[in-house]
Amino acid sequence: MFERYTEGARRTIFFARYEAAQTGSPYIDTEHILLGLLREDRALCNRLLPDVNYESIRKELHAAIEEGKKTALSADLPLSNASKRVLAFGAEEAVRLAHRHIGTEHLLLGLLREEKQLAAGLLRERGADLTKLRLEISQLPTPWSSGKVLPSPRLGNDFEIVEIHGERWNGEYIREIVKTFRKFNWYWNRCAWRESDVVARVSDGAISRDLSLAADSANFRLVAGGWKKDECLICQWELFRSEDHPEHGIGYTNGREWLCTECYEKFFAS
Ligand SMILES: [Zn+2]
Repeated sequence: MFERYTEGARRTIFFARYEAAQTGSPYIDTEHILLGLLREDRALCNRLLPDVNYESIRKELHAAIEEGKKTALSADLPLSNASKRVLAFGAEEAVRLAHRHIGTEHLLLGLLREEKQLAAGLLRERGADLTKLRLEISQLPTPWSSGKVLPSPRLGNDFEIVEIHGERWNGEYIREIVKTFRKFNWYWNRCAWRESDVVARVSDGAISRDLSLAADSANFRLVAGGWKKDECLICQWELFRSEDHPEHGIGYTNGREWLCTECYEKFFAS
């Protein structure tokens, strides 16, 4: 059922199960999928649903239901029939948009199509409109969600697979993302990764990479070497300094972002 799901969509379902368990619900219902989505893909929700906020929806839901006994997360909570239809609608929306993957954006449309359910009502109350969202989603960079392809025996020939660090990715997604980054004409310099300085706010330790804040020494202090890790822009491979894992210690940078050597050499250098 979940073969074509992106990692984000799978995590949405995982979080939905968690939300259902939290309230002792015997099913994963549409409102749990909505909460899972708000938790998983904040970037999408901020962009498309500026008036929908995880905390406010969660509060409203928790006030409306009598909290049951929490179910252990491992309990295999089934999807309600409405939730199953949401997933089916999501798959339909992906087809309509000619997307091979099913991502968080399609689940959102699926939620709205299951009109009589709580999730759709909550979304509509906050200004979400199916027709408008369809249009906006069709204009998102594609694929919106991560193109990582999770191992599946039924993958078939649907995808062109490329391997990065031994993991399988959707080749089309990688090509798209490389094309996007190439537009910027960055110079990628191969070098050893090293920590960089950050500024921390004294009152709560909040971190910024804007070092000019340190001039305000009453409120901020410089933390030398406080930035401990970066991630490859494409595959999220971690770059950090470690004697045990020298392969994480070298990459290509434009001075701000990083690419792992494998992504650079496979997709950019060619
Ligand atoms: Zn990479």
